[in-house]
Amino acid sequence: MDIFESLENRGHEQVVFSSDPDTGLRAIIAIHDTTLGPALGGCRMWNYKKESDALRDVLRLSKGMTYKAAVAGLDLGGGKSVIIGNSKTMKNEYLFRSFGRFVQGLGGRYITAEDVGTSVSDMEWVRRETKYVTGISRALGGSGDPSPVTALGTFTGMKACVKKVFGSDSLNGRKIAIQGMGHVGTYLVELLYKAGAKLYVSDIDEDKLKSVAKKYACKVVNNDKIYELDVDIFAPCAMGGIINDDTIPKLKCAIIAGAANNQLEKEKKHGKALLDKGILYAPDYVINAGGLINVYNELQGYNRERALTQAEDIYRILTDVLDYAEKEGVPTPIASNKYAEERIKSIRRLKRTFIGEKKIYIERRQDRSADSRRKKP
Ligand code: NAD
Repeated sequence: MDIFESLENRGHEQVVFSSDPDTGLRAIIAIHDTTLGPALGGCRMWNYKKESDALRDVLRLSKGMTYKAAVAGLDLGGGKSVIIGNSKTMKNEYLFRSFGRFVQGLGGRYITAEDVGTSVSDMEWVRRETKYVTGISRALGGSGDPSPVTALGTFTGMKACVKKVFGSDSLNGRKIAIQGMGHVGTYLVELLYKAGAKLYVSDIDEDKLKSVAKKYACKVVNNDKIYELDVDIFAPCAMGGIINDDTIPKLKCAIIAGAANNQLEKEKKHGKALLDKGILYAPDYVINAGGLINVYNELQGYNRERALTQAEDIYRILTDVLDYAEKEGVPTPIASNKYAEERIKSIRRLKRTFIGEKKIYIERRQDRSADSRRKKP
């Protein structure tokens, strides 16, 4: 892999490797862009087959975080880290404290959090070595489980989509199919049930499915059949890559709006296919930003009310993105990328102007003091 070319192509600022043979730590931190603020992104622990797979993953994921924070209007940049190893057998306090020292060494340019393969308790080990960590439990002053906030953001995003397509943002009586009854899926079902939606649910875990269906009067649907339902909204809340060449021809929904990450297998191709088919797609990183908003709030002293209010602002942000896509005639994921890039560019310009003005001011002061020294007898 040609590393510098790869960094230049994706616009990364910095990539740092750490090896600690005493604890077995082999980790990479990628800082994509810090124009808007320190780079925040989770730490993924995965048994990568090759080191180049780990590097590719951390570069891809850190860039995604830049876009997510920018669209959500947060003063955060994008970053991510990976620990190479088996999360079932290799986890211990020494490993995560070593990772914490690695994070501390970057002096706050990167702030970590939990991700696939890491948990709140792992982050509490990290916290013993650095303050640059989020996703700590509520009991220790952190923000705890982000899922209810992610679900709320997704719920308000659904309302924005329904308003765009049907002219009213009421979800009462709307038919909604939800794939995945995990953390986010179940909180979302509760909100939608209270809003009067007619719900269809699927999951590979029969037990989870049954308990949710009974509590919220949902219709249980076979996993393969969920794509074919004639519903107003299809909400993917399980895994990524499920909007692809196989599933798009089956879809009969008017809107896709769910919390899962990386829903489109190929962003450009499948974003365009949905536009051509007349299905409104809520870009995943816009509608599921509630989790990031939640941990962001931890940095300023966690306040639940403030986090929930900010998550509800996803309604306005998503409406802006959808309007922009309509005006430009482009697929919604392309519109959200442009929206993020424009925000970063404008703040970069502002900072440059400010630095430029400050420099002129200092130079003028230096000129004045040189003049006054010359005038002295
Ligand atoms: P989770 O692991 O709690 O739940 C995922 C659920 O999906 C599980 O119940 C699992 O059984 C089910 N599932 C797995 N494969 C499936 C399949 N083929 N068909 C149907 N169901 C299947 O995860 P979560 O925290 O609820 O997150 C759900 C999605 O939202 C993920 O893509 C995650 O990356 C994304 N997301 C979550 C948050 C958050 O705050 N938790 C924030 C942003 C994005």
